[in-house]
Formats: sequence, C-alpha cells, structure tokens
Amino acid sequence: MTERIPCKTEGCRATILPTTAAKTGGYCMPCRQEQERQKRQAYIEQHRRTVNLYDGLTDPVDLLKVMHAPRKYDPLIQYVPYPLSKEQVYVSLTAEEAGRMLKYALKLLAEGVKSEADHILLSLVCYRNDKIAEVLPELMERGMYHSSILFKDASSDIRDRLLQQVERDDDNRNHLLLILSWIGDPVIVSRFREWRSHPPAWAVQLFAGPELYALEGGWELTPDGERRDLVHGLSYAIRATGAQRDSAAEASAARFLKTSASDCPWCQGKLTILLDGDISHPSLAYLGLPLERLQVETCEHCGCFGTIYMELDHQGVPVWSRFNQKPEHLPSFDSEDNSGVTVPRLTLSPEPHSPYYAAVWTLSQQDSQIGGHPSWVQDAEYPLCPCCAKRMPFIGQMDWADFDNLGEGIFYMFVCAEDKVTATLYQQS
Ligand SMILES: [Zn+2]
Ligand SMILES: [Zn+2]
Ligand SMILES: [Zn+2]
Repeated sequence: MTERIPCKTEGCRATILPTTAAKTGGYCMPCRQEQERQKRQAYIEQHRRTVNLYDGLTDPVDLLKVMHAPRKYDPLIQYVPYPLSKEQVYVSLTAEEAGRMLKYALKLLAEGVKSEADHILLSLVCYRNDKIAEVLPELMERGMYHSSILFKDASSDIRDRLLQQVERDDDNRNHLLLILSWIGDPVIVSRFREWRSHPPAWAVQLFAGPELYALEGGWELTPDGERRDLVHGLSYAIRATGAQRDSAAEASAARFLKTSASDCPWCQGKLTILLDGDISHPSLAYLGLPLERLQVETCEHCGCFGTIYMELDHQGVPVWSRFNQKPEHLPSFDSEDNSGVTVPRLTLSPEPHSPYYAAVWTLSQQDSQIGGHPSWVQDAEYPLCPCCAKRMPFIGQMDWADFDNLGEGIFYMFVCAEDKVTATLYQQS
C-alpha cells in the first residue's frame, strides 16, 4: 500500500497520494483549486476595466437600445449602470421617440431577433400604454403569440382572424385565448358566452373553461353573460422615498405596511395593514365606499398560505372575518422573525401611471401599486366574496421585492364594496 502524504497547506488535514503530490506540487485538490481561484481573482482585479456604454449618449432611444442589447458576460468588464431604470426612460419618451423605438422593434423582428423585439414591444405597451396595432400582423406571421398583452388593442380585422385561428390551432390555443381575453371587446364577450353554453370540442384539452381565460385580461363573464371588470384603470405607483420632505397631506393620502393593533388568531402574530388610504384619493374614490379611509389588513405569515378576509365595520376598522378558513398546513412562525426588516417610507406617486405598467411580472419594473392590472406571478386569481359569492375586484398590490432586497412575493388586495369585505392573496415564484 502506498503511503499518503499530508497536503502542504498549513492547517489542511488532507492527505494525498504521491502521484497527486507530483502533479499538484504537494497540495490536495481542494487547496490546489483554491490557489487557482485566488490567482484568477487577483488577475481579474488587476485587469478589470470599467466600461460606460452610455458615455456620450443623449438620445433616449440610443440609451434604450443599449439597455436592451444582450451583454456578453465578461469578468474583466465592470459596466457602469445608467442612473435611470429602463422603465423610467420609457415613461420619459416623447411620442416621436416612442415611434422610433417601435420602428427599431420592427427592424429587429425582420432580422429575426425575436426576444429583444418582444421586450421592447412589451415595454412600450405596458409602461406607456402605446398602441402597436401595426406590428400585430408581423407577430402573427412569426407565430409570436406568447406575449398576449401585446394584442390588447388589436383591430377588428386581426381579432376576427384570431377568433378563427383559435378554433383550429391546437398548439397556440392557450395563448390565443389569453390574447382574446386581453382584447375583451363585445364580440369576444359574446363568443365567450357561446363557448360557455356550448363548449367547443377542443375545450376538453384546456384546464379551465375557455370563458375563464377572461380573468387574465382583468374581467369576468357574469352569469348573465356580461363583461364585468375586475380591475380599475386608474393606477398609482407605490414607491419608497428616502426624503422626509413629503407634506402631511401626501403622507395621509395613503400609508403602507404598518403594524396593526390586532393579532392574527391563527399564528398570534400582529396583523399588517398593507394599505391605509384616504377614500377620496382618485385611486380609491371610484369604489364609493361610505368610509373615510380604506384599510386592508392581512397576516404577513398566514396570508402566504391562503385568502384572508377582513370585514370593515361602519367606521372602516378591519375585523377578522368569520369566513376565514384556516389552511390545513400552516407552518409555525417565530414571532421574532419579522423584526429584522426595516421597511422604507412608502408613498403614492403624485401622478398615475399606465394601467398595464406592472401587468407583466417578468419585466423588470417595480410592481407595487394601487389600481391597474395585477402582476400575476402564477395564474390570475380573484377571491370570491364570502357574502355575495361574486369575484372581488382587485384594488392594488405590494411586491415585497420592491422594498426588501431579500424579499419576494406579491400580496394582492381585493375589495367587495357592497359588502365592505377586503381580501388578500399571495403568490410567489
Ligand atoms: Zn489541502
Ligand atoms: Zn397569522
Ligand atoms: Zn360581496
């Protein structure tokens, strides 16, 4: 038997075969690899260059082209980030600049650079609510149906082509139904109605009745066969603000993520007030609630495992609903474990943004907002009001990732104004 010899690294207890030692200069493999890693790291640090791809660029269209262009990862290059986010630049574009961006997307499509073109189109539609009808025939020609929201303003001509296609195109049917839900005009509502009363043969291949796809577009088909909207178009971002300069009026319009005085009956932790908003603010006034403020409460822990309903008393104080059903598998929570996160000061943006701003969760924007379309991480899901059994309209959402580097997941908020009941749902990837 060959005698093993100790690794030369001080403090390393590994022993190695003489043949290994001959190859590695007397070190064990892990030590050898660590030496290599340190050498590489030292080389990178010595040779790393800082590159500013935005240097000298002033045209926002040029800036966006750089932001969208795929970047090769190179450890020797450190890219200087642009001071504004992609979505901020999109929002700031003039109509002429946005038009040039659209042309650029068309050029990329013609060159077969599909995913970059798709990203640009989604940005124009979501962040700006721009109309991109001229691009839709191009997308159809290339079979690009997966970004269904892009078709929301389709012409009646395109809509009719899609309605024919959905009957025969087994491969794209799922996406086509989503597209139809985004269009959601009276012709589509009546087609969904027909499908509900006379399910087409292909409906057996779907996970849900074709008319349930309407939820993805933010509406439902009522029992009477009408369109009922489940989202509100007027949308305001919720953003962290470092400054103390907010006027008292601004701060009282809406407050977020406060600890409630009430306990969760399931985990005994404190409930969280996700939203405490002045009902006269345009983002909430349409609800017509006979209250001064709307408070939406949930349990940050238990709320991740199911719907939590709260009933508002006549002063608007949320009371744990008797309809809440404890999830079967609720992990136990350490009551101390939420003390570490400090939530920044949050306020509503003074101006509304596009109702579709956060509608595509996979884009890079912050999602927290009042109103607008939800950023579904999974399938669209609207809880049923425990009083009237109708789907509860969406009123806003808080994305944990917006305020906490380690945070993830979105709390969605709903209200039945008639019954003064709120609900929360949670989704994460
Ligand atoms: Zn070693
Ligand atoms: Zn709880
Ligand atoms: Zn109700």
